[in-house]
Amino acid sequence: MDIVVMKFGGTSVADADRIRRAAQRAIQAQKKGKQVVMVVSAMGKTTDHLLNLAGEVSENPPRRELDMLLTTGEQVSISLMAMAINAAGQEAISLTGGQIGLITDAVHAKARIQKIDADRIHKELDSGKIVIVAGFQGIDESGEITTMGRGASDTTAVAIAAVLNAQFCEIYTDVDGIYTSDPRKVPDARKIEQISYDEMLELASLGAGVMHSRAIEFGKKYNVDIHVRSSFSDSQGTLITHEVEKMEQIVVSGATVKKDLAQIVLQGLPNEPGVAADIFAQVAQHNVIVDDIIQTFDGVGQASCSFTVEHSDLSECKVVTEKLKNTYNINEVICKTPVAKVSVVGVGMRSHTGVAEKMFSALAQAKVNINAITTSEIKISCIIDPEQANEALQVVHSAFGLEKEPGN
Ligand code: ASP
Ligand code: MG
Repeated sequence: MDIVVMKFGGTSVADADRIRRAAQRAIQAQKKGKQVVMVVSAMGKTTDHLLNLAGEVSENPPRRELDMLLTTGEQVSISLMAMAINAAGQEAISLTGGQIGLITDAVHAKARIQKIDADRIHKELDSGKIVIVAGFQGIDESGEITTMGRGASDTTAVAIAAVLNAQFCEIYTDVDGIYTSDPRKVPDARKIEQISYDEMLELASLGAGVMHSRAIEFGKKYNVDIHVRSSFSDSQGTLITHEVEKMEQIVVSGATVKKDLAQIVLQGLPNEPGVAADIFAQVAQHNVIVDDIIQTFDGVGQASCSFTVEHSDLSECKVVTEKLKNTYNINEVICKTPVAKVSVVGVGMRSHTGVAEKMFSALAQAKVNINAITTSEIKISCIIDPEQANEALQVVHSAFGLEKEPGN
């Protein structure tokens, strides 16, 4: 029998009414002959409220205790979902991450999935139940409760779809798909019908907030088709899938802006083997995720290295840069914060020229200064002043004609 995994985000289960509606969707799918696994987030803004509460009793709550607290949000919504399905006359069972043997590493708040025990889920599905799994949580080898980062219920859903060999994974959310840009910032942004994992990965890591990056990585690795769609309508959303040839014809698929970044510049580093390795080993030890790295050589004997991190990781980063300052006798550590990053993404960049020039000209015309540039095979990013972020996004979006249907 085909298995579908349906994930419902916080807004899709924000109150009793919405929980009943989500329950109905699952029941309808089951009536069409599918085995259904639901993955559910905490209701509405529950996770934020819990975090605020933690902040009221402690300035720096231990991460283990935060995980203990935050996972209760999902426990509320899975149990209510099971009750709603039951009340509608179908059988359902709610299960925590630990109960489905979702084992992660031991890094609280940023845990990564190591394995999932598919047997428990199969057993419940085979007995005719709709299985409802708590998103974003797991346990480590010693049984400690962990969470996998904000928004990680998506990752739970896609990982489960992968281990169950599900037909596809549906992500129900409050928008009706992936757009060429954030419609709140770019009013003429357009819904994309189909996008490749690689493009979506770039977009997600660049601040297109619709999906958790790890979820897309899992999708790509295990070939799970992901359908992002609205829980408030039946319209087709966006399919995230493997790359097909016609995608190459679209030069740029989306434009994003990411704010709340910090840029760290280390000037006057020795230009010797092992320096960069040491810097980023230390940063990694503090579990800080580093974004674009740029290292340059001054032509004489010194190098300078700049990288960006989330603004929220800045204090951890400063601990490291202070140490590095002493180790390497660094002239100066510059810390620019906040900064923003505007980017364009498209698999078509591999086979088209002039993309960078078009982006930089659009920014120049809008008098946006570029502080740093980084590129990948399918992405160009510019670090800019956050005050100009929204304007930069709009001019770039229109420079590539993203508001128009491809081919028109
Ligand atoms: N409830 C968690 C959060 O708000 C996980 C999720 O919604 O995906 O981040
Ligand atoms: Mg979410």
